[in-house]
Amino acid sequence: MTLRARLTLWYAAVLTLVLAAFGVAVYALLSLSLIREIDATLNVAADDIRLAFRREVTGIRLPPMALDLTANVYVQVWDAGGALVAQNVSVPETPFDPDRMAQGEAAYSEARFEGIHLRVLTYPLVAQPEGAVVGTMQLASPLTTVDEAQHALLIVLLSGGLVAVLLAALVGWTTASAALRPLERVTETALQITRADDLSRRIPLSGPPQGEVGRLIIAFNETLERLENLFETQRRFLADVSHELRTPLTTILGNLDLMRKMGQLDTESLDAISSETQRMKRLVQDILVLTQAESGRLPLARSEVELDTLVLEVFQQSKVLAQERVEVRLGQEDQARVLGDRDRLKQVLLNLASNAIEYTPQGGTVTLGLACVGDWARVTVSDTGPGIPQEELPHIFERFYRVDRSRKRTGAGGAGLGLSIAYWITRSHDGRLEVASEVGRGTTFSVWLPQSGSGCSDPPSGTSGAAPQR
Ligand code: ADP
Repeated sequence: MTLRARLTLWYAAVLTLVLAAFGVAVYALLSLSLIREIDATLNVAADDIRLAFRREVTGIRLPPMALDLTANVYVQVWDAGGALVAQNVSVPETPFDPDRMAQGEAAYSEARFEGIHLRVLTYPLVAQPEGAVVGTMQLASPLTTVDEAQHALLIVLLSGGLVAVLLAALVGWTTASAALRPLERVTETALQITRADDLSRRIPLSGPPQGEVGRLIIAFNETLERLENLFETQRRFLADVSHELRTPLTTILGNLDLMRKMGQLDTESLDAISSETQRMKRLVQDILVLTQAESGRLPLARSEVELDTLVLEVFQQSKVLAQERVEVRLGQEDQARVLGDRDRLKQVLLNLASNAIEYTPQGGTVTLGLACVGDWARVTVSDTGPGIPQEELPHIFERFYRVDRSRKRTGAGGAGLGLSIAYWITRSHDGRLEVASEVGRGTTFSVWLPQSGSGCSDPPSGTSGAAPQR
């Protein structure tokens, strides 16, 4: 069953229930008040007769006036022996309600007498002071008007209720249709997107954005956008990987071809093949680390790492790497310990340091530093290199991103994966990797890592930048 039909059914069912309860209440109240009125009339008449009846040796005697009541009240007076003493209508001599005659106390009942629906009050006549029941009187009033009123009310309630329920169902159906129409459009567009395989399409927002459907459309469009971005990233990633693998593969194939033509092994060609194979191996390893880190599945050792020792090691290695070309310095050196994977953290710092050395021109300076900022440790790698333009900064942690794509790199790496890996490894350590750069003046990368233990013993000195929130 469709949602629209279900809503309409519920709507109509609830209204039917409410109307039924209301109808029953109205019907019962009206009947009760009409019957009460008749009962009151019967009661008054009964009182009149009761006062008038006389007991004689021969039985009960009633003055004729006592039965001169309103036309709507019929009276029968029976003596204790069951003989009719008097009645004010000429009807067969049987009690209006024979079933109640034997009762010792006054009671109301309903009965059919000669085809007429009657309200009957049976009243025992008691002699004073001895209290003996000397007869019974029955007063009756026709219930024709009550029956007619009830019948009319029933017809009004039933027909009115039916019309109301039908109307409600109709209104419910149209309202539900109008409310669900935008949903149908959403479904239609979603199907078109699937059929056309076109994730760039969006569902147009009609109606208020705060409404249920509006929010659904916005959420759906956001999902589409995210999916589109994901597919685009995936596509770019594949294209980048293929591109990065093509160059070493071409070199390897070229050298193999050359050797085949020469008919002998050539050391230079073998060296080239070896170095390109190494490059491919590194690339594949990097991609593996990156995908693992991105999905949070990078296996990490969790041990106490003395960051100051680690920074010192990276400093020594950087000096070797920089040779005489660039000066590598050690700046502020606080003491800090973090919980993490020593090798991976070293990989991050070496990556940043080797980038700094590589991009800094001859005569420049690269400075490593470790500062303690509250609960955080901050390792900085600053250089006096060319800097990175502001518009490039948001992208430099993306996979395969290079600021100057045509810039030829020498030596190891160069695929544009180093910073992505550093970023994700830092993230895997619950830390953050930040960059600040000014074109022409240099770049500073900051690795923020949460300290294990109680943090700095001394207040932070000479550090800039606010520590991230844990
Ligand atoms: P690559 O393998 O190309 O170095 P990275 O991911 O390590 O890849 O770096 C991405 C890009 O960021 C580099 O291509 C370079 O343009 C830029 N970059 C990184 N570090 C620095 C730096 N210290 N100074 C200037 N540019 C840098």
